[in-house]
Amino acid sequence: MKFKNLPKIELHVHLDCSLSYETIKRLRPQTTIDDYNTNYIAGKSCTSLKQYIKCADNAISLMQSKESLELVMEDFFNQLIQDNVIYCEIRFAPLLHTDEGLNSREVVNILCNSMNFLSKESGIFTGLILCTLRHYSKEESMETVKLVEEFKEKGVIGFDIAADEAGYPLDNHIDAFNYAKQNNINCTAHAGEAKGPESIWETIDKLKVKRIGHGVKCIKDPKLVKFLYENNFHLEVCVSSNIKTKTFNKIEDHPISQINESSISMSINTDGRTISSTDLTNEYEIISKKFGWSIEDFRKSNLEAIKHAFASDELKTILADRINKEY
Ligand SMILES: [Zn+2]
Repeated sequence: MKFKNLPKIELHVHLDCSLSYETIKRLRPQTTIDDYNTNYIAGKSCTSLKQYIKCADNAISLMQSKESLELVMEDFFNQLIQDNVIYCEIRFAPLLHTDEGLNSREVVNILCNSMNFLSKESGIFTGLILCTLRHYSKEESMETVKLVEEFKEKGVIGFDIAADEAGYPLDNHIDAFNYAKQNNINCTAHAGEAKGPESIWETIDKLKVKRIGHGVKCIKDPKLVKFLYENNFHLEVCVSSNIKTKTFNKIEDHPISQINESSISMSINTDGRTISSTDLTNEYEIISKKFGWSIEDFRKSNLEAIKHAFASDELKTILADRINKEY
């Protein structure tokens, strides 16, 4: 099957995990292809989510000025065009880009403006999701969610919690997610990646989200699978990323087809186009080859992504029409 030209929806991708070699070379001219492969892509030596995140830290250190943030966003859009993505929710943690003089508000403002310009130019519909991080304090988490509120009309569409699931608890972030709920802010949360079903139960209970980043470990708990299906949760599934972080040892062990067959709403995502060294075209090829997915399965996963996207009903209709027409 040829997937490249089919329109695609992506709900879960980190900007700072998606810098191309060309862009890193522009930002850090001494970078060689070996450096790039070792320090920016999660290779064979990567054995955990923690190590995967280290590669992002290297990229983040290059994203500390207006010019570099704009360059990375432009690079990112070029990748979306190549992959024929028609709608993308792009996430990043604004507080990670304040090492060289920018404040978090300026960071969000720069990326909103850059995204809106490129979105118009390319015709790709996009929105930003701002991430708090597991190891952040209560104050840092609140600062992040308040930025979502402030930039609601300017391109920011949601709030997320990312980073080291196994290393830090959720307690510092409950207030920020409550604030989001009170202010009708769309939320998603990473869970069930580095930890098992208990982490998904805890995230649902404490953060009250209806969309879960990964959530793939749910498959170990039939009660949870039933609960996610009956309560219309959505899982943002990222197959290659899960192999890089050793959530599962090999592709064949990935439960994507079991999740699909359980009728839980799910979508296919890259998580990080550089660190996972993939794009959606490649993910579809892998899933089709390894799990025998048909074009109808991919149509369904794109339509499920649209249903749970942080987008207006009007935009959802436009996107669903495109998917139904071309699949
Ligand atoms: Zn992620």
